[in-house]
Amino acid sequence: MFFGSATPDIKSYYRAVEENKITLLELTKRANNANLPKIEIIDLKQELANGNRSMLSNELYKSIEENLKEKRQTILFLNRRGYSTFIMCRNCGYTVKCKNCNISLTYHSYENKLKCHYCGYEEPVVKICPACHSDKIRYFGTGTQKLEQEIHKQFPNAKTIRMDIDTVTKKNSHEEILKKFRDENIDILIGTQMVVKGHHFPNVTLVGVIAADSSLNIDDYRANERTFQILTQVARTSRKRKR
Ligand SMILES: [Zn+2]
Ligand SMILES: [Zn+2]
Repeated sequence: MFFGSATPDIKSYYRAVEENKITLLELTKRANNANLPKIEIIDLKQELANGNRSMLSNELYKSIEENLKEKRQTILFLNRRGYSTFIMCRNCGYTVKCKNCNISLTYHSYENKLKCHYCGYEEPVVKICPACHSDKIRYFGTGTQKLEQEIHKQFPNAKTIRMDIDTVTKKNSHEEILKKFRDENIDILIGTQMVVKGHHFPNVTLVGVIAADSSLNIDDYRANERTFQILTQVARTSRKRKR
């Protein structure tokens, strides 16, 4: 049997290197001797301190602008779908959660509904707090739908396409979206980790990872490892990436 991975998990690596149960074969060069992308990490706390309240850092904004001018393509990666990722009452702290799973519901702007991403439960938008009856219900957190809206606001002439579970609904829509992005030279592809899986786009010279550290907080003991894997894979779709 043969396993192949750009980012083998620690368990497999341990079995190969420490226990010698698997033979390790390493590729030390990229295909075609391509250079690895240049990576910049931008601290959004610093951006906020400098008065930038947007989800895009100044550096990423400037790079997108430059890419649009040069007719190069950009991928923006945000691993949360929907519009707002949690809904809370500012008066009493009540959070709107799924009746079945007890996790926060996500607001989906296109259908104007609240959805549970685990079991699929849906309910209408909440405007009055069910606990204290105040109207101080507020929507927080950013998903791909909100990012798409923000991009339209900041770059009104950019052509965008979004890829997440909500747009990839039919059997071939995954391939169709990627084909459209490549063939029709759409400026910006916005998506969740679906955009990562081993695609090669020669005209993509910029990959922006929004809130790259957010997946460190997921409820999984492999959170660090998973974050490393996904960021490494997303970096490989470009010659350059930014957060
Ligand atoms: Zn649920
Ligand atoms: Zn309340």
